This record gives sequence, C-alpha cells and structure tokens, in this order.
Amino acid sequence: MTIITEFMKQFIFPLLALFITVGCTSQQKSLNRQSGDQKNTASPKNIILLIADGTGLSQVSSSIFYKEGPSNYDRLPEIGLIKTSSATELVTDSAAGATAFASGIKTYNGAVGVAVDSTSVINIAEEVSKIGWDTGLVATSSITHATPACFYAHISSRDEELEIAEQLVTSDIDFFAGGGLEFFKGRWDGMDLVTALKFNDFSMNTKELAPMEGAKKGYLLADDGMPKMVEGRGDFLPKATQMAIDHLSMNDKGFFLMVEGSQVDWGGHDNDAEYLISELIDFDEAIGVAMDFAQKNGETLVIVTADHETGGFTLAASQRGYATITPTFSTDSHSATMVPVFSYGPGSELFGGIYENTEIYHKMKQLIFPK
Ligand code: MG
Ligand code: ZN
Repeated sequence: MTIITEFMKQFIFPLLALFITVGCTSQQKSLNRQSGDQKNTASPKNIILLIADGTGLSQVSSSIFYKEGPSNYDRLPEIGLIKTSSATELVTDSAAGATAFASGIKTYNGAVGVAVDSTSVINIAEEVSKIGWDTGLVATSSITHATPACFYAHISSRDEELEIAEQLVTSDIDFFAGGGLEFFKGRWDGMDLVTALKFNDFSMNTKELAPMEGAKKGYLLADDGMPKMVEGRGDFLPKATQMAIDHLSMNDKGFFLMVEGSQVDWGGHDNDAEYLISELIDFDEAIGVAMDFAQKNGETLVIVTADHETGGFTLAASQRGYATITPTFSTDSHSATMVPVFSYGPGSELFGGIYENTEIYHKMKQLIFPK
C-alpha cells in the first residue's frame, strides 16, 4: 500500500498533472485559433484597392507635410509593408507589380496578367465576377496602361496597348474611367472599339465625366494619360472614384474596385516634386472618397498601397537647416525599397506585417473565398 502510494506520488500524479496542463494548453490554443479564425471570417462584401503608382513612405509623408487639412492615409488603422521585387529583377516595374496584386504570382517586368512562361493567370476581378460581383477600374493614366491592364488583360508585353484595349472590350469589367481613347478609336487598323464597347452593353462617354444610365459604363477622357493635376485635371480622380462606387454598389452581391493614382510615378520619373506631390494629394482625396463610403457601409475592405517606389524620393532637410524641407530624388527610375500597405474594414487585420506583394492577392482571395 505504502509502495503504491509512493509510486503514485512519484509517477502517476506528476503524469496526471502533465496531462491536465497539456490538455488545457491545447484547449487554450484551439480557442485562440477559433477566435483568430472568427476574425478572419469577417468577409468583406466589397473591396476597394487603391494603388498610388511609385509611392513609398516619403511620398505618403507628402500628404502630411504639403496637404492642407488632414491626410486621408491617417484614417486607415492597419499598416503593413510589402517587398516588391519581380520574378526576374530586384526592382520591379508596374506590370509585374500589378500582376502580383491582381493574380498573386511573381512574373517578369513588362508582363501583364501572364506568368514567367507567358501563360495567362486568372485575376481577382475575373474571379469575383464569377460569383456575381461587379468590377471597376479608375486610373489617371490610359486605362490600357500596365497597372489597370493587369486587372483584365493577359499579354506578354505592356507595350501592346492596342491589343490590351481589345481585351477590355470582352472583359468582365463593368465600370471604367481614365485616358487612352487613342487605343480605342482612330486606330491604324481601323477598328472602332468605342462602338464595340457600346455593342457589349457599355454606355460610353469620351468627353466628360457626366452621369449616364446603363448597366456598364466607360469613360475615356484623354487620348493617352489624363492631364496632370498641375495642368488642370481638377477633381477627375476623386469624382470618378465616387461615380464608380455609386455604380458598383448597386450590386447586392458585392463589388471590386481598383483606383490608381497613376502619375505619382511619373512625377518621380521626372524628378519633379511639385508634379509628384500634387498627384499624391489628389490620390489622397480619392482615399477620402473610398473611406467615406466604407465607414458608412461597414462591409467594405479598403486597401491602399503602391506597386513600388519611384525616384528614391526623400523629404530631406534643406541646406539652410532642419526648419524646412527640400524634396530630393536619388534616381529617375524605380527603387527596391519596401512600400507601405494601409487597410481598413472587415479583414483588414490580415494586412499587418511584412510580406511579399503577391500576398495582397492571396489575402483578398482568402477573405472573399474562405475555406
Ligand atoms: Mg501605373
Ligand atoms: Zn514607373
């Protein structure tokens, strides 16, 4: 008896205690996992992805130092950083960058919606269209430019804008606004894609951003890129963002909208701080429009990011001292620096941390199509 008691004291009790401890820990873990999963299953009904081409942290900081009034970036509480290198080069271009966001793969610079072997890869706009969402694109470049193109086209080179325009006509896109009329009308091959778009149920306007009736709407308001802000573009970007949201949100199933501040990148390439900062502040207004809708709507995930940084831009102290800033560039090309991701709304908690640019796609996919 004493031997058994001694045996139990020495071996059985500690073992039982161990089992209880392990049991509790794994129970706790599964509880934690459950609450984690519950967080993740807060699926958004709508996603608005805003991309400011060529925007690193210094560019974003411009909206704090140079914008009158508060920055709309401040309204997105979740912050992450993405690594932007492409499959073939440390420094990405906008085509590989947008293919990473749209399709979740790393590809070569210049590729639009195709993998390294030039085979087509499905994109997020095509995938949500299959479940009945509406999709839209707004850009201050040509709508056939690399960034917007990756959400509807599949072609081995971003330079094939005539072919990219043809692919827009037969795509799943329901609303678009931007420049690029020359790729649709007055083409050397005589094809009239504005008429083709109308034939495919689009209401089209090639003059102004005026309201129209129709199930699908297209605005092509410049031959190539839209005018610069400093040359009088006005409120095109925030207004087109609002019109896209008004149109797409009529769909009860949900919508995906990509909005691009295309020309922040061009200001960077030109090493023109006034150009860059005015484009960034305009983009900030578009963020404000998306956030106003999302905060009222409650079921919309807003993601604000960039494909890469352009210009090696910094808000350096001026030569006169620390009291003033001299915006400074270190290159007229892109850089490999990580770029920030800001997010708000259901599922935004997934977007914190440091990760590859392809994860933007995979995180959206996980939220829209939970396992
Ligand atoms: Mg772009
Ligand atoms: Zn660029």
